[in-house]
Amino acid sequence: MNELIYADNAATTKLDREAYEAMIPFLLEEYGNASQQYTFSKKCRNAIKEARNVIAECINAKPEEIFFTSGGTESDNWAIKGFGGANRNCNVITSVIEHHAILNTCKSVQRAGGQVIYVGVDSKGLVLIPDFQKALSDSKGKVALVSIMLANNEIGTIEPIKDLVRFSHEHGAVFHTDAVQAVGHIEIDVNELQVDMLSASAHKFNGPKGVGFLFIRNGIPIVSHNDGGAQEHGLRAGTENVPAIVGMAVALKNNCEKMNENARYVNSLEERLLSKLYESKLPFIRNGADDRLPGSINVSFKDSDGEMLLHRLDLMGICISTGSACDSKNTQVSHVIKAIEVPKDYANGTIRISLGPNNTQEDVDRIVSSLCRVLKSE
Ligand code: PLP
Repeated sequence: MNELIYADNAATTKLDREAYEAMIPFLLEEYGNASQQYTFSKKCRNAIKEARNVIAECINAKPEEIFFTSGGTESDNWAIKGFGGANRNCNVITSVIEHHAILNTCKSVQRAGGQVIYVGVDSKGLVLIPDFQKALSDSKGKVALVSIMLANNEIGTIEPIKDLVRFSHEHGAVFHTDAVQAVGHIEIDVNELQVDMLSASAHKFNGPKGVGFLFIRNGIPIVSHNDGGAQEHGLRAGTENVPAIVGMAVALKNNCEKMNENARYVNSLEERLLSKLYESKLPFIRNGADDRLPGSINVSFKDSDGEMLLHRLDLMGICISTGSACDSKNTQVSHVIKAIEVPKDYANGTIRISLGPNNTQEDVDRIVSSLCRVLKSE
């Protein structure tokens, strides 16, 4: 068996060693409950405070605007349902290519009687601005919350968030962005973007799994996610996961410090992979906008099957992801690939290769030669 090549960094990332080492004392020796008043717990309280400061600084927020959660899904649920809970008759505008953490939360809003408008995207996955503006103006002041992702998890497209926020604010709407794929990979300044809420997840930026945060700008009305104790200003009760919070902060700080260097390196790998793919003369389309997450490569091969490719590469020790999945009868093309209208003879053959700083040129060469072996022998 060949050595493993992990090229699915949009699904999750390897834990940063420094983050891991920073977590250890809080797993073993410093196990106090951060809410207790004795000195033994003070270290945990201070560690949480320090982590909140570090994370706030990374996105230019204030520490009290950072709320720790169990990850991206919880942050997304809280932003939408929590804002709805604090604002009667809250309607939502979102896009058709959001992650299911948003789409299924919106379904829940609809089941509860709320209105959700789903705005379409163009062939690159960019939100259609005229449709977005129409949705805002048609709702005649009724729309309270807009939720549009900062970067798409399948095709890597980075949305023009600053413009979308401006239009939303002009209509009195509050703006949430699911930035789970973007945080730690591209520069984010919540004040420059002017977003009101932002979701993030540690395991996407080399932090531990099961922890994330929601940025909630001061003054945004939202109801608690968990009722109970006084943790997280009483809005997200429950004893804090100190090791995970500490690990998340170290991982984010490290990623932010190395962001430009990482992006340059990963983009060079991406260029190498694509030029080799073009050289191979395999018929394929690259999906996504020019403004894209570093290392995000979504390609559709003509008359192929993404799920078959995933399994064949798996047998060669390569982890990638697909934009389609077979159920017992049909190949189901993902909602994102459908929304950007990849031609039918290409859509089923969609895969996502997401490279990270741990990948090498040799990885890239093996990915392309393995794809050629499979696709040329089909
Ligand atoms: N939002 C986006 C865009 C994602 O890519 C993901 C995970 O893939 C999530 C939300 C969910 O995050 P988590 O796995 O932390 O719940």
